[in-house]
Amino acid sequence: MVSEPKAIEITENGLLIDWDDEHRSLYPFKALRGECRCANCIDEWSGRRILDTGSIPLDIQIVDFIEVGRYAIQILWSDAHETGIYSFELLGSLCKCDRCLEEKTG
Ligand SMILES: [Zn+2]
Ligand SMILES: [Zn+2]
Repeated sequence: MVSEPKAIEITENGLLIDWDDEHRSLYPFKALRGECRCANCIDEWSGRRILDTGSIPLDIQIVDFIEVGRYAIQILWSDAHETGIYSFELLGSLCKCDRCLEEKTG
């Protein structure tokens, strides 16, 4: 089951998502930009990353985002990249909150 965000907020340190299953994830901007799955960042045939993550500005930020249906958000980045759609499934899998760490260590 894919959980859904209760709240999504742009903070100084990254994108903060409160999930409906009590997870609370902070996604640092640069790392999240590197996870973009759009056709400009990932080769759609091989699934390999085209994007050079070293080229992402250290001070990259999220300018804005919109919800896409009920399954994803589309992010507008400060480097003018705006084709990236981040599904809740992807975002959930990137969560590294305390709860996730507990679950993984058992
Ligand atoms: Zn992209
Ligand atoms: Zn979590």
